Amino acid sequence: MDKIKDFISLISDSEKIVLVSHINPDGDAIGSLVGMKLFLEENGKHPQVVVPNRFPDFLSFLDEQGSIMAYDSSRDAADSAVNAADLIICMDFNSLKRIDALGDAVGASSVKKVLVDHHLMPDNIFDITFSDVSASSTCEVAYYLIKEMTACNGDLKGMTLESGIAFYTGLMTDTNNFANSVRPQTFGMACELLEMGVEKEDIQFKVYSGFREQRMRMMGYMLYENMKIFEKEKAGFMLITKELKEKFSFEDGDSEGFVNLPLNIKGVEVSGLFTEADGYIKVSLRSKGDFSVNRLARAHFNGGGHERAAGGKIFIPVEEVESYFLSKLEEYRHMICCTESGRQ
Ligand code: 5GP
Ligand code: MN
Repeated sequence: MDKIKDFISLISDSEKIVLVSHINPDGDAIGSLVGMKLFLEENGKHPQVVVPNRFPDFLSFLDEQGSIMAYDSSRDAADSAVNAADLIICMDFNSLKRIDALGDAVGASSVKKVLVDHHLMPDNIFDITFSDVSASSTCEVAYYLIKEMTACNGDLKGMTLESGIAFYTGLMTDTNNFANSVRPQTFGMACELLEMGVEKEDIQFKVYSGFREQRMRMMGYMLYENMKIFEKEKAGFMLITKELKEKFSFEDGDSEGFVNLPLNIKGVEVSGLFTEADGYIKVSLRSKGDFSVNRLARAHFNGGGHERAAGGKIFIPVEEVESYFLSKLEEYRHMICCTESGRQ
């Protein structure tokens, strides 16, 4: 309760609030930023939102005015906003490393920082931390936080339909359409939002039925030609090289959801999608059952995340990615089996 009161007074004392989220912002990042921004605006504030880089087009309905700044393309404006901030609210990430170059600007700022998040093991650098690792999404954490704030202070205006739409979007996308990491509160929130007037088909349509033809063709190609299944390792593997990106005129967000596909196969318990980028390989990992991709990503892929959805980066030639993945899987299983008597 004290934390809630402290947060409310920080907000009321601040005039230049900046909201930030992680690199390659997804539905939960943009949904939680926009939902919180609209709540703050409703309460007389004028927050600015900064993300490290551009978010995919299928989320643009949440920012029709184009007011969200991307640090990589609007660096001066974003730096001025962060430098002038009197409060920074960090959403959907647990470490400044996750916000890339924007992390230097945020780290250099001496103003109070508040974290709203659901990732494991948040850094200890925040003045107030609202972290719930059992929540489906940051949108779920933010939604219940705002409810508590308005219950605690009767002067605060509550959530608007527009905030609800943004929060619903993150709830839907981070749970892979209510399939993963859901708990009773997740459905409770969805129910309340539908009662508020959120049109779920409309959001579903915008998010899942707005892809380009090229992305669907690429998905077909990935499943038919690219995906490898390693039975002994119980693993699925996909690799998007620069060459493949060119072949399908790849755009950010096109590979959203690909990494989940191998898990539909019986016996596959871990899936890795590797994407060649400039100077590194982006790693996306998913699992089912007890396999912790968070631990795997921390141990071998310079990353982390959640137990069944994690990611990271590796710095090796693209030709070596497959054998690296297989050898690290083996090492990891060996390590787990030695330290936890067989439990993964
Ligand atoms: P995705 O596979 O969708 O890119 O990422 C899945 C999850 O893994 C994200 O929600 C995030 O928690 C985590 N993640 C992705 N990339 C990184 C990374 O480079 N470092 C860390 N620590 N976590 C990551
Ligand atoms: Mn999230």
